[in-house]
Amino acid sequence: MIRITNLSKEYRGGVKAVVDVNLEVHKGEFVALLGLSGAGKSTLLRCINGLVQPTTGEVTVANLNVNGRSRELRELRRRVAMIFQQFNLVKRLTVLDNVLCGRLSYCGIFFSCCRIFSDADRELAWHALARVGLQDKAFQRADQLSGGQQQRVGIARALVQQPEVLLADEPVASLDPKSSRRVMDILASINREDGLTLLVSMHDVDLALEYASRVVGLRDGRMVLDKPAHTVSKAD
Ligand code: ADP
Ligand code: ADP
Repeated sequence: MIRITNLSKEYRGGVKAVVDVNLEVHKGEFVALLGLSGAGKSTLLRCINGLVQPTTGEVTVANLNVNGRSRELRELRRRVAMIFQQFNLVKRLTVLDNVLCGRLSYCGIFFSCCRIFSDADRELAWHALARVGLQDKAFQRADQLSGGQQQRVGIARALVQQPEVLLADEPVASLDPKSSRRVMDILASINREDGLTLLVSMHDVDLALEYASRVVGLRDGRMVLDKPAHTVSKAD
């Protein structure tokens, strides 16, 4: 599903954020990307959905080349959804409207401005809110919700995109332990029931080993670990 070949990213100023990474993620896997702050997790994830342009190397998702033509990139952005540590919701919009924003990736930015959502879009949004247990918050402003609830809105927004891959950049790093588990439980159920391929960066090793099927470790931009979760000991 995801194929990363000889990927390196050097930012302007000479920071080598990702160094020669090779990684293949198969359909339906739940991969935890572990590493300290600055290890390159975020950069690696952003190379997968085309938010960051790699210096060298190649990334394909479902055989679409991330560095391909703009048409290919647009199709890829529909298939690859992302959630973020700080949720990235539109604060002033309602929960439902935030979820509907996930439908915008279907058309270009030009059409987004004047797009009117269809009934089918709204059905999808309601279903997604049900999946994350937030239908009763649909008409509240996003910034009135707790952090854990906001991240669940982020997941619902990703789901209406009907993606094949979900990238999550430290999705529980800002949450308390109870909300973290709720979010991880939802991610696990999406992985199990919808067969969505998950690549989730995190720094909580215990949580990663509990939920993921495979763990990949990054240190200073290099891949230093790649094992099935059940074979990993903390010494690794
Ligand atoms: P992580 O997600 O593991 O914390 P990042 O990918 O955010 O790691 O960062 C990897 C390295 O790249 C760090 O040294 C960081 O300071 C640097 N970096 C990240 N983004 C940029 C950027 N836009 N410009 C320059 N350096 C960056
Ligand atoms: P399902 O098809 O799984 O039964 P729906 O997604 O149709 O569920 O609706 C789930 C819930 O959301 C229901 O309680 C329904 O009344 C409510 N709902 C669905 N669509 C809307 C809407 N456009 N406005 C307000 N409430 C809605």
